[in-house]
Amino acid sequence: MNPPIIHWFRRDLRRADNPALSASLGRPVLGVFIWEEGQAQARPAASIRPMGGAAKWRLLRGLEALEADLRRDGINLVMARGEALPILGSIAGSIGARSICANRIPEPDAQDEETILGAALAEAGLELVLHDSALLFPPPADPAGESRFRRSFSGFARAAQIAASRISSPAGRPELQPFVLPLGKSLPKIRPLVATDLYRGVPDWAAGFDARDCGEAAALARWRRFLENGLATYADRRDAIDGEGGSGLSAHLHWGEISVHRLWTDLANLVHRPELAAGSEKFTSELLWREFSHHALAHCPDMADAPLQPDFGRFPWREAPAEYDAWRHGQTGYPIIDALMRCLWQTGRMSNRGRMIGASFLTKHLLIDWRRGESWFWNCLLDASAATNPFSWQWVAGCGVDAAPFFRIFNPVLQSGKFDPDGSFIRKFVPELAALPTAFIHHPWTAPATLLTQAGIRLGRDYPLPMVDHSFARQRALDAFASLRKTGS
Ligand SMILES: Cc1cc2nc3c(=O)[nH]c(=O)nc-3n(C[C@H](O)[C@H](O)[C@H](O)COP(=O)(O)OP(=O)(O)OC[C@H]3O[C@@H](n4cnc5c(N)ncnc54)[C@H](O)[C@@H]3O)c2cc1C
Repeated sequence: MNPPIIHWFRRDLRRADNPALSASLGRPVLGVFIWEEGQAQARPAASIRPMGGAAKWRLLRGLEALEADLRRDGINLVMARGEALPILGSIAGSIGARSICANRIPEPDAQDEETILGAALAEAGLELVLHDSALLFPPPADPAGESRFRRSFSGFARAAQIAASRISSPAGRPELQPFVLPLGKSLPKIRPLVATDLYRGVPDWAAGFDARDCGEAAALARWRRFLENGLATYADRRDAIDGEGGSGLSAHLHWGEISVHRLWTDLANLVHRPELAAGSEKFTSELLWREFSHHALAHCPDMADAPLQPDFGRFPWREAPAEYDAWRHGQTGYPIIDALMRCLWQTGRMSNRGRMIGASFLTKHLLIDWRRGESWFWNCLLDASAATNPFSWQWVAGCGVDAAPFFRIFNPVLQSGKFDPDGSFIRKFVPELAALPTAFIHHPWTAPATLLTQAGIRLGRDYPLPMVDHSFARQRALDAFASLRKTGS
C-alpha cells in the first residue's frame, strides 16, 4: 500500500483546483493546518507580519468550512498550534508519511521560511513538495519570466497577456483517499488550535461580519452568481460604493478558497460571449493588479514601511492622533468618509472605490502618513493582504509604483454625489443623517437650520461638523507636495 501523505493546508483552504492536493492522488491523505504566529522568535521568519484581527476571524471561519467539507469524505484535518517543523515531523513519524505537500505562500518572508523548513525536513528524511497556486505568475519572475522589477502596470499586464497560454488549467476536484489511523495507533500529542488562540487580544467586533460567506462552497457559489449576473455589467458597476458591482471574491482569493487559475480559465472560455467582453477584460485587469502587487512585494519586501518612491521618505506627514481617531471611527463630519469607515469596521469589507476615497482623505486632507491608514485597514479587512494593502495605500498616497499622482486629490463631496447619488449607503452606515433629504446628505453643513431641526440633527452634537475645509486641505496638501519637490532638487 502507498504510504500516506500529509497535505499541509496554508493559504489554500479548498479542495478543487488545488495542485498540491491533486498531487496526493492515490495515497491516503491527512490534512494539517498549523497556526504558527508568536512561535519561535529565533526563526528568521519571525518577522512575518502578525495577522490583523478581522483576518484571524476570517481564517477561523475558512478552516471550519474546510474541516466540515473534508470530514464528509472521511478526511481528517488536524489543526495545531506551534512550530511547523516539530509538528509536521512528529505527525509524519506517527503515521508513516514521508512526504508533505503544500502550496507556496507568495510573500518573500514566507518563502524564506519554506526554504529553511524544507531543508530541515529533508535532514529528518522527509520531503516537502511545494506547488504554486496562489498566483498566475508567481514572483519574483515577471510574466515574461524575467527577474527584474517592472514598475509599470501596463508593461506587466502586456507581458501577462502574452504569457497567458502558459497558465496551467485548474485540476478540478480530486477524489481523495482518506488516511485512517490503524487501530491502536494515535496521533502525537500536539497542541490543538482553539478559537481563543486566534481571538486573544482581538476585540469582539465581528458580529456584523458575514459568516456564511466563508469557505470554498460559498466562493464557488459567489463566482457562479457573478458570472451569471455581475460580469456583464462589471465594467460599469465595479465602482459602486457598496461593493455590489464587484465579485466580492477578494477574501476568498486571499484564503485560497477559490483558485485564481479557475477564474482566469472560466473567463477565457467565455470569449464567444461578446456581451461579456468588456466585463471580462476589466475583471482580468483587476486580477492582474493583484498579481502586480505581489510582484512589487517580492521586489520590495518592506513595502508596508518604505515608500516605493524613496523621495517620499521626506514627506512632511502630520502627527495628528485625534484626527486619525476621528477618521478610524467615522467621525470626520464628511458623511461619505464616515459611512465608509463605519462600513469597514462593521462588515470587514469596503469597495475599491470606497478604499480609494477613504485612503485619499487620510493622506491628503489630513496629511496623515499612509502607513497609519494601511495598518488600520490591515487590522479591519477580511481580505487584508500583505501585498495588495500596502501596494494600494502607496498607490493612493502617490508614493507607489505606477501610482495616482499625489496632486490627484478627491473632493469627498463630489465623490459622494457621484458614487452614492441617492445617499443610501450613507443612510445605512450613518443613521443619524438618515432623515436628511438627498440634496443635503453629502454635505449636511449646507442644510438650512430648519431642515436640520426637522431631520432631528444638531451639527456638532448629533453629527460632527467637517473636521477640515476641503479647499484649505487641498491647498495644504499641494504645498506639502511642493515642499517635497523643493527639498529634493
Ligand atoms: C487603499 C486600498 C487598500 C486595499 N487593500 C486590499 C487588500 O488588503 N486586499 C485585497 O484583496 N485588495 C485590496 N485592495 C484592492 C481592492 O479594493 C479589493 O481587492 C476589492 O475591493 C475587492 O472587491 P472584489 O472582490 O469585489 O473585487 P473585484 O472588483 O471583483 O475584483 C476581482 C479581484 O481582483 C483583485 N482586485 C480588484 N481590485 C484590485 C486592486 N485595485 N488591486 C489589486 N487587486 C485587485 C481582488 O483580488 C478582487 O477580488 C485595496 C485597495 C485600496 C485602494
